[in-house]
Amino acid sequence: MKVEIITTGDEIMSGVTLDTNFYWVADKLVSLGFDLGFHTSVGDDEEAIIEAFRTAQRRAEAVIVSGGLGPTTDDLTAEAASRFFGVPLELNDEALEMMKRRFDERGYKFLEVNRKQAYVPKGSKILKNFWGTAPGFQYEGEGVVFFFLPGVPKEFKVMIEEYVVPELELRGIGRKKYKKKLIKTFGLRESEVAERLQGIERDGAEIGYRAHFPEIHLRISAYGDTENEAERLLSGLLEDIISRLGECVFSTEGETLEEIVGKLLSQKRLTLALAESCTGGLVAHRVTNVPGSSNYFERGVVSYSNKSKTEILGVPKELIESFGAVSSQVVEAMAVGVRRLANTDLSVSISGIAGPDGGTPEKPVGTVFIGISHRYKATVSRRFQFKGTREEIKLITSEVAFDLIRKFVLNDV
Ligand code: ATP
Ligand code: MG
Repeated sequence: MKVEIITTGDEIMSGVTLDTNFYWVADKLVSLGFDLGFHTSVGDDEEAIIEAFRTAQRRAEAVIVSGGLGPTTDDLTAEAASRFFGVPLELNDEALEMMKRRFDERGYKFLEVNRKQAYVPKGSKILKNFWGTAPGFQYEGEGVVFFFLPGVPKEFKVMIEEYVVPELELRGIGRKKYKKKLIKTFGLRESEVAERLQGIERDGAEIGYRAHFPEIHLRISAYGDTENEAERLLSGLLEDIISRLGECVFSTEGETLEEIVGKLLSQKRLTLALAESCTGGLVAHRVTNVPGSSNYFERGVVSYSNKSKTEILGVPKELIESFGAVSSQVVEAMAVGVRRLANTDLSVSISGIAGPDGGTPEKPVGTVFIGISHRYKATVSRRFQFKGTREEIKLITSEVAFDLIRKFVLNDV
């Protein structure tokens, strides 16, 4: 366990302020290859702050402390550090000069309370703050280096970049090469993904799961002494994951499903038209979220009423009367209708019951038919049974529609 973070302040401890300093610095340091051991938050309580220092000193090589360097009585960090290290607070001329100059420049009056901020534990190295008033400082106790930085996020961030990262690098603290990748999957539940990936872990590489309804995302990372080693570990793990999850993996470079589908359609020079009922244009919306979609997307029709299905798409009235609007027969007729209308290579149609009303015993809420029609192939459709709120059913339907296009283009044309 190498680097440890302590964020201070009652507003952090009480949940009033989101601890963005932590998540920002954690992401920064981890992606640079540093090992983060622990993160502690403490309120504005001197004893608690000292306790946090003590624990951190025992187990870390470097400790980063955020907050509590201001002029007010709830800013206790310097005082706590002085007591913890057993050295008095001393007025630092460099810090005082710097602050006075800054106040002058801004036309602020330098107050006696501000002088307090120029007091740091004797023997500290001052970390000049060009971005705010409170200077930071660095102190080494029992071989562990402590960085004390202001809590104001803008100041905290620059000072991490200006002082902390170079110093950690200089000291060679836990630095390893780090590589990461985001793998996006669709079609399996999180537990199914986990089951398929059982035993895949290896030293120096990690897999993190994130449910991103209706997709499951995997964040994989690898550490190595060299870039090559990290890369080798990562690509080995990636290959393994793909071989176990197969077609469920749709993206490994961060692309969205609609981007992947767009790429495939472009590559194969296929044009697309849509006829949507229960998704109300959501699929078309997602298609057109991708820049350049005009290259393959011709039109989308939202044919919500039966009348519009007949009038615009030419679905025979009798078909709707005999089988219902939510049926394979109608959805296939919708697909053919819109493809002919748009004169595209491919079309997809959707009809379903998004709820919460409108379900029947044979076709409960969540029943969705998706049709797919290709210029030179037999039109097909599939029936799905989804669960969830109206919005979730719409979203998962759109997702499945994209996934069907993806697999159809990959395998059939
Ligand atoms: P100041 O001189 O402004 O008093 P300081 O070093 O004493 O700076 P704090 O008083 O602890 O820092 O925090 C100043 C402000 O910065 C807080 O009001 C809060 O809005 C923000 N802040 C503090 N800590 C964090 C944190 N961990 N994450 C995000 N914001 C924070
Ligand atoms: Mg403060």
